[in-house]
Amino acid sequence: MSRKFTDSTLLIATHNAGKLDEMRELLTSFGVSIVGAAEKNLPEPDETESTFVGNARIKAHAAAKATGLPALSDDSGIEVEALDNEPGVNTADWAETPDGRDFEMAMTKTHDKLEAINATHPRRARFCSTLVLAWPDGHDEVFTGKVNGTLVWPMRGAQGHGYDPMFMPDGYDITFAEMDFTVKNTISHRADAFAKLVKGCFER
Ligand code: IMP
Repeated sequence: MSRKFTDSTLLIATHNAGKLDEMRELLTSFGVSIVGAAEKNLPEPDETESTFVGNARIKAHAAAKATGLPALSDDSGIEVEALDNEPGVNTADWAETPDGRDFEMAMTKTHDKLEAINATHPRRARFCSTLVLAWPDGHDEVFTGKVNGTLVWPMRGAQGHGYDPMFMPDGYDITFAEMDFTVKNTISHRADAFAKLVKGCFER
C-alpha cells in the first residue's frame, strides 16, 4: 500500500520546462499547488546512477531535503531496440553541447547510428518514465511507465520536446511532435507512470 499524498504543495524536481508543463497538466485535477525546481533555485544534482529509478531517486530526494516539501521527479528516456536499448538513461547526454542541449543533433546521431548498422524497419523504440515521489522524511514511492512505437526519419512536427519529432507511438500515424499536447498526455510513458502514481498516492 503506497503512502498517500496529503500536502497542499508539490515540488516538481525538474529543470526541464517541457516535463514541468506536462506534469503540471497531468496533476491539474487534484487541486495541488505545483512549484518547479527552478523557482526554488535548486541546483541540478548529478545523475550518477545507471538506471532510471536510481537517477529519479537522486533528484526527488535532493529536492525534498533542500525544500522540506514532498518532491516528484521523473527520469526518462528513449530505448532503441536496434541500439541495444541506447540511449536509455543517457538520452539527455546525447543532446549535450557546450551551448546547452541540442535535440536535433541527438536525433540525427540516433538516426546515423541506425543507418550505420543498416537497422531493419520498423525501427522499434520505447519511451520510459520512472516517477519518484519523495517526502522530506526519506520515504519514497516509485512508479514506472512506457509507450512503444517506431522511429521515423526525417523528423516530423514542431510540438513537444526532446525526441518527440522522431517517435511515432503504436496505433498512430503521427509523431509525438505532431500530436496535440492533450492527446500525447493521455498515451505517453509519463501518462502511464502518472496513472499509477495517481492510483497509489492521490486517489482516496
Ligand atoms: P532526464 O530524465 O532529465 O535525464 O532526461 C530525459 C531525456 O529523455 C529528456 O531530456 C528528453 O530528451 C528525453 N525524453 C523524456 N521524455 C520525453 C518525451 O516525452 N518526449 C521526448 N523526449 C523525451
